[in-house]
Amino acid sequence: MFDRSLTSASIRTQILLYGSILGLTLYAGYALEKSNYSRYISELRGLLREKAAVLSTEIERELIAREVLVSGIAGVLESFPNITQSEFSDIAAHYSEGHSEVVNIAAAPDLKVTLVHPIEQNRAVLGLDYRTIPSQLPDVLRARDTRSSVISGVVNLVQGGTGFIVRAPVFTKDENQDHARFWGIVSVVIDQTRLLDETGFFDVDSALVASLQELDEQGVPRSMIAGDPAIFDQSPVLHPVLSELSKWQIGIRPASGWPAYSPDRLNIWLIVAAFGAIAMIVARSLREFGLQREEARLNLVEAIEAIDDGFALYGPDDKLILCNQKYKNYYSKSADLFEPGTPFETIIREGVARGQYPEAEGQEEEWIAARMHSHRNPKNPGEQLLDDGRWLKIAEAKTLNGSIVGFRVDVTELKNAKEAAERSDRSKSDFLNNISHELRTPLTAIIGYAKFLVQAKALPEYRTTFESLVAKDGCKGETTALFDEFLDRVVGFSSRIDASAEHLLYLINDILDWSKIEANELSLNRTSVSVDDLVNSVLRKLYPVAHEKNLSITAEIQGEKVFGDKIRLEQVLINLVGNAIKFTSEGGVAVKVSQEGKFVSILVEDTGIGIEKDNFELVFERFKQVDNSTTRSYGGTGLGLAIAKHIVLLHGGQVDLTSEMGKGSKFRVLLPAADPTLSTE
Ligand code: ADP
Repeated sequence: MFDRSLTSASIRTQILLYGSILGLTLYAGYALEKSNYSRYISELRGLLREKAAVLSTEIERELIAREVLVSGIAGVLESFPNITQSEFSDIAAHYSEGHSEVVNIAAAPDLKVTLVHPIEQNRAVLGLDYRTIPSQLPDVLRARDTRSSVISGVVNLVQGGTGFIVRAPVFTKDENQDHARFWGIVSVVIDQTRLLDETGFFDVDSALVASLQELDEQGVPRSMIAGDPAIFDQSPVLHPVLSELSKWQIGIRPASGWPAYSPDRLNIWLIVAAFGAIAMIVARSLREFGLQREEARLNLVEAIEAIDDGFALYGPDDKLILCNQKYKNYYSKSADLFEPGTPFETIIREGVARGQYPEAEGQEEEWIAARMHSHRNPKNPGEQLLDDGRWLKIAEAKTLNGSIVGFRVDVTELKNAKEAAERSDRSKSDFLNNISHELRTPLTAIIGYAKFLVQAKALPEYRTTFESLVAKDGCKGETTALFDEFLDRVVGFSSRIDASAEHLLYLINDILDWSKIEANELSLNRTSVSVDDLVNSVLRKLYPVAHEKNLSITAEIQGEKVFGDKIRLEQVLINLVGNAIKFTSEGGVAVKVSQEGKFVSILVEDTGIGIEKDNFELVFERFKQVDNSTTRSYGGTGLGLAIAKHIVLLHGGQVDLTSEMGKGSKFRVLLPAADPTLSTE
């Protein structure tokens, strides 16, 4: 009924589960690595930015120094415009001392180079007219027009390598010092490589490479100054180099290029893989736990389905949790209501509306209320009639958490059989009752006449007949003797008839009593009864029987009183003492009365044959005797003790028995003591 095999759906679920975990793990690893990488790169760029800033400051400082140099010389020329070559060389040598990067210093009054230092290597420069060099003229004019120093971009040096030219305009004043006149230009050629070398540009850090470019006014790159131009296309860290002379920009990147991965990459993936593995293990454990739970659930469901009776479980909120098919089958009209989650009350109400429970007809609300009460306070099993005539036994119980477990057992056959048995028992009791009554009437007549015959000699007819016989014979003779002999035989037969009839009456009375008990018709007429009187009366009646058997019969009485039916209690005692005498051949019978709390105990002891322990309960059952031979040896019906016990129980008392085989028996009757304020009958 339940498929436990590993279906393709379950395999798909597993693939989906583990695939999802794998996918999520990979994605988490990727995202983590990405964020770690961008953090790493941004840290690296920050580091490079710091390096670039240091470098930029160095370059700026060096350029300012060159500007100071050229301005210094320009200042001297402003004061001494007619300086000679040798004076110029002295001044230039003074200013350039210690500056190995200075290639030459030239002065060009009216834009024509006439002074140069050092003169030997730069004679060729003398006579150079800037106006005839279009590549240099704009910067020269710019220096003149802006009246400030100008740096000219990279130029190939005659000495080899590349360099900058720093130019400063020279303005002389007339005597009055009120009008400045453009004198010319002073220019210093600087070896770029050496200058940058001094700034530490080329050995910033072995792990880094830097490039330097010149920007135009708008900040657009104009020309390369140093380094590999390609660096500016490789996402370098940029930093401006700003001085009076220049608008440059440094580009810097790691020497081996930007790293493709962060150094933590392996660690990240190891951690992510560990988490992924843990997630897989947890998922697997959870899945196995779930499978075990499902297995346990299926086992339970199968077990419940295997029960031959109806079973249902309602939760603490009184809603159906589960029930088996048998349960649904019993309630054919409300089977569709047995869905998990449906409240018990809904099932009952709807069932009543659909006619599921015939007993509810005409008193629906009362029946529902009673059913709900018994359901919520389950005690003893009850019975329920269904619409199809079947009877169910309903056994319900509450669990510790307040759930209600219910069993439904089809007891239709049992109930029918019981009813049939009860019917037959009733008709048997009725029969016994009727027949006993019918038997009693003629029996009473038989006993009555038998008693007359036992007393035949006291009849007037005897005397008349006897006298006529004496008269006939003239004296007491042979005829009268024969007549007496005949009459003695009649009396003997009559007393046996009387005894047997009495016994029969006794049996019929027992049967009559038992029919009353079975028909629940035995009622008590209770008063305060003196136990002394009761015992004395019984002993008086039975004394002759005991005497006949040579048995002693004694009583210990102390004035106790019980609340009971005098006639019925006498019947009980007659039975017990009668049995004691009947089953004793030597010794005697003793009746001992004592108070036991709220009860009075009447103990009937004998020294008779005794009863086996196994039969202690049996002797109180109707028509039960210890063995059938007792019937033959002692007579009796086996009803006496059953009736006695029933009478005592009706009084709210109890009977018990102890006995030893061959030594005797003790029957103890406990009866509720009478209220002392009650008067005794
Ligand atoms: P019965 O009419 O046979 O005496 P009872 O119900 O009075 O029926 O007793 C049932 C049986 O219990 C007796 O047949 C006998 O076997 C046993 N019994 C009862 N009283 C005694 C006793 N005092 N001693 C031994 N056996 C007893």
